[in-house]
Parts: sequence; structure tokens; C-alpha cells
Amino acid sequence: MFLLQDSSMFIEQPPFLYRMYFSEALWRIPQREKTVYLTFDDGPIPQVTPWVLDTLEQYKVHGTFFCTGDNVARNPRLFDELRAAGHQVGNHTMSHVQGIKMSTPDYLRNIEKAHDLIQSPLFRPPHGFMKPSQFAAIKEHFTTVMWDVVTRDYSRNLNGEQVFHNVRQYTRNGSIIVFHDSIKAKHNLQYALPRAIEWLQEKGYRFDTL
Ligand SMILES: [Zn+2]
Repeated sequence: MFLLQDSSMFIEQPPFLYRMYFSEALWRIPQREKTVYLTFDDGPIPQVTPWVLDTLEQYKVHGTFFCTGDNVARNPRLFDELRAAGHQVGNHTMSHVQGIKMSTPDYLRNIEKAHDLIQSPLFRPPHGFMKPSQFAAIKEHFTTVMWDVVTRDYSRNLNGEQVFHNVRQYTRNGSIIVFHDSIKAKHNLQYALPRAIEWLQEKGYRFDTL
């Protein structure tokens, strides 16, 4: 079984076999013009998401926010603001559950609950883990969006400069880049996001939503 079981094994760029395992999911979307897709997971929360919105507005770029239903229920206005500002949203389950630890019906119910609030055709599994039976069921209703670059902004073992370095090191045409609008990531995000956007703009990347 080559599905990664332990999030500590996660590296910045997902291994080939792992990509093949969910080969029908989106990992990277190369375009004729150099393009990247900024994504933000786990919000929206008042402590971080408004700062992300301001920053994206400042650089005139748009991103895709994979929200948990719980956070949307707690912060409905923030969720509306995201969409009103032209950002894309996606489903990140109701309560940030890991499929691999749950029965398929329970997992799907959790996603459905979030769907009632988020209403998006996009889905990203928390921690990137799903059982094959879960992926098969989700495929019927959603496009699963994985990633090409994990910045690891949430990591306590990395500082902002190292998170910024991950963007510079691994980004290529079509990269789907993962940041987090979460408390855990806040410090590194605030350092790395503006620098990453400036660097990507200097390198000639355009930004698109999923
Ligand atoms: Zn998450």
C-alpha cells in the first residue's frame, strides 16, 4: 500500500505513486501561459482570512479557498466576502475529518453537510487521505483537487523563510500551491505569502482560480 499513512511523511511535492493512486484528481494544470493556483485550506476564520483577502487584493490576485463547513457556519459573512471578492471556494469536509479513519457513509455524510453550506463542485480531502471507495463515491459529485506544492506553512519546524523557499524550490507551470488560513499557519503565512506572490509575479506567473 503506497498511500501515505502518516502526515509526518508528507513532503513538499507529492510522490509519483501517490499521484497515480488518485490519478483522476487534479494535481497540476500546466497552461500555455505560466500559471499557478493559490489555494488556502481550513478557513474561513476571522484571525487570518481577512488578512489573506487584503493581501490578495493588494496584489490583485485570486485564489481558491477550501473551507470547512464548521468554519463557514461560524463565519458566514467572511465566507460571503470570499466569494464577493471573486475567489473560488471548495469543500474541505464539515469538520476536517480524515476519510481513512472513518466509514465511507460517515465520511460522505460529513462532506454532504459541508456541501449544504459551501455549494461548490470542488473537493479537497483533509490530509489528502481517502479510501478508494470514498474517492470513487466523491468522483460522482465533485472534482477532487490535490496539490503540486505543499508550502508546509503550518509546520512548527519551519520558519517563514523556509516556507517561502518551498514555493521557490518547487513551483512550476500549473502548480496548485497549498497555504492555510489557519491559526497554526498564521505566522509563516504572513511572512511567506506576500513574498511568494511577489516572487511568482517577478517570474512571470499569472494566477488563476480552480
Ligand atoms: Zn485541511
